[in-house]
Parts: sequence; structure tokens; C-alpha cells
Amino acid sequence: MTHSKSLQTLLSHSNYIAPEGFAAFPVPIHHASTVVFKDVAAMRSRSWQHKNAYTYGLHGTPTSFTLEARLAEIEDAHQCLLAPSGLAAIALVNLGLLKSGDDVLLPDNVYGPNREMAQWLAQDYGISVRLYDPMIGAGIAELIEPHTRLLWTEAPGSITMEVPDIPALCAAAHARGVLVAIDNTWSAGLAFRAFDHGVDIIMQALTKYQSGGADVLMGAVLTRDDALAQQLGRAHMRLGMGVGMDDVYMVLRSLPSMPLRFHAHDMAARQIAGWLKSRPEITTVLHPALEDCPGHAHWKRDFTGAGGLFSVIFDARFTEAQTDRFVNALQLFRIGFSWGGSNSLCVPYRIGSMRDSWQHAGQLVRFNIGLENPLDLIADIERALATLSA
Ligand SMILES: *Cc1c(COP(=O)(O)O)cnc(C)c1O
Repeated sequence: MTHSKSLQTLLSHSNYIAPEGFAAFPVPIHHASTVVFKDVAAMRSRSWQHKNAYTYGLHGTPTSFTLEARLAEIEDAHQCLLAPSGLAAIALVNLGLLKSGDDVLLPDNVYGPNREMAQWLAQDYGISVRLYDPMIGAGIAELIEPHTRLLWTEAPGSITMEVPDIPALCAAAHARGVLVAIDNTWSAGLAFRAFDHGVDIIMQALTKYQSGGADVLMGAVLTRDDALAQQLGRAHMRLGMGVGMDDVYMVLRSLPSMPLRFHAHDMAARQIAGWLKSRPEITTVLHPALEDCPGHAHWKRDFTGAGGLFSVIFDARFTEAQTDRFVNALQLFRIGFSWGGSNSLCVPYRIGSMRDSWQHAGQLVRFNIGLENPLDLIADIERALATLSA
């Protein structure tokens, strides 16, 4: 066979065509930076803003477009943007919507790095940031200033698990033209229909339940409003928030099992939280489905399920050294951040130094319930509790 072109040229011009008749369920992993156009007119007619055509890998390939569409279906959104992590998705919301002179309100129990980012925006970018009591509900109206642009919510809040009154917060914010964003990671979009309760922007850390494998970092921002989607889409492009298609594929692969996994996390977490409630070492179980949890009534009214993440407060007679010993003594529960994977995790938090007002004297420990048999997890906790008095 004689080549009309040099090997060097042929190696760069693959004539690969997907095999005819190769029908299978998985979405192919389409990698690309460059997307080629048939001619100059085709190039000029396409815009990166339009999801009906491809322009450049950074703005999506068929693989990422498919994930965006699936996530939009879950949350009943109209548009979805993918970000390289949950925190990057938070940054996308903040940088896409806020400018210097604007004011943003954050719940006191907001995901820590979101608070950290807000403090940075306040310090270096001329954006004012104020924290509010997550249980404030309609009272948020009194905190809204003429320059307030964005109200962040999280349901439930990180670590201390208060469930806010989202419809009341949204009604007060909308009456004054303020946008409401929610970190909806805990419910995975399955147990809480955030748009139906009035929220304008949903942020998800896909790192958690959507990935399900503790092996991917990714985030998403979802909207129903075209103008908002365009504004966020411009920020997404300007910030260069691309995601790797292998990671996108991993999330796509996990999505069909997400409702089943979520249900299993939910059932096991409620069983274990209920058992912990009966233990004399524990004074308070901060699980939204239990009455101990501030905002339990909101959870009951607005949610259709619960995630696998909750916290407990130990009796104040136990010192930090003792509860640290408890955490170290656990064998099935490993010590580590993040959640939503199949392995159970446990983290003690020094909550007094993290919250503006915190009433409890006892130590707080957060549990992420994985997919192990809950009876084995209870046995693990029971054995570790015995070390408290040792
Ligand atoms: C994990 C998490 C995030 C951030 O996600 P990353 O992908 O780890 O950056 C944001 N919000 C909540 C509530 C989370 O638990």
C-alpha cells in the first residue's frame, strides 16, 4: 500500500468512523479540545452559547451535554452547567451574579468553603457579605438591603443540619428582587424539589451522590430562567470551567443507581440515627427526620426523603479527648471528608469555633452512612462507645 501522504500526516488525520450497527447503552466518552467545522460558514454560524451545536471542547462534547441533560431532568431544570468541583460551582454562582457594591447573605451554617469564598469576595472584591441565622425564615426580610443581590441557602446546613424554611426565605427575597441560590447537595435533587419551593439557582456537588464512588470531583449549577442561565453561562465560559470527559462518564455511569443508593443511605441513616437517639452517651441527634433537629417541621413539610449524612452531640460530660478516642476506635467508619460514597465516614468538628452562636456544650461528631449493612455499623458504633468510659 502506497501512501499519498507521509506517515506523519496520516497519523494526525485519523479516518475513524464509529462502527455501523454498534448499539450499546453507555454514552460514548467524547474527548475534544478542538471541534472541527465543515467549512468557514459552519464555523461562523455556531456560538459556544448554544447547546445545539459544538464549538470547542471546553464548552462541551456529546458526553457532557448528555450529563447536563440528565441532571436537568433530575432537578426539573431547564439549563445545567458543569463545573470541576462543587466548590467551583459555588464560585460560578458568586462570580456570575455578584459585582462590587453588591451584598450577599449566607446562612451561618453554610458549607465552610462557601463562607471562606464570601469572606474573600468581601475583603478583595468590594462585595458585602452578611451571615444570617438559618432558622430566620420570613425574618430575612429585615436583613435585605437595597444592594442585596443574592441569598444563599443550604438545606439542611452543613454539619449542624438545621433545615431552613425555604419557601419563606424565597418569598421574602423575591418580594425585594433578590435571587435565591441553594446548595442542594444533601438531597441530591431527589428528596427536595428546590425549584418547586421557589429557589432560582440550584448548586450540586456531584462529588457526592451523583458520583457515588468517592472518586470524582464535579459540580453543577442549574436554572429554569433563560436570562439567568445566559448570565451564568457567560461566567462559565469566561472562567474556563471545563470538566474532564472521563469524569463525566463516571458520573453518567453512576446516575441510574443513584435513587436506589440514595434510598439505601436514607434508610440506614435513619435506622442508625434512631439507635443513637436511644443511647445515654448522646444528648441530641441532628438528623432532619428526627425531632431533635432544628427545622424538622420544614423537612417534614417539604422533603420526601433524607440523605445519609447527620450529626450527633455527645453528653457534655465527655471531653474532646474522649470523643476523639471514640472516633479513632471505629473500624467500619473511616475518618475523612466528603460523603455520598459506599464507605461510612465519621468526623468530629469543633463547632464552637465555626458558628456565631452555638448553644450545645457537648462534642459534635458527624456521620456519613455508607452502603454497609446498618447492623454492622451499629455494632461498630456500640463497640467504640464502650471506649468512652474506659
Ligand atoms: C462537598 C460539598 C461541596 C463541595 O463539593 P466539592 O466537589 O468537594 O468541591 C459543597 N457543598 C456541600 C454541602 C458539600 O457537602
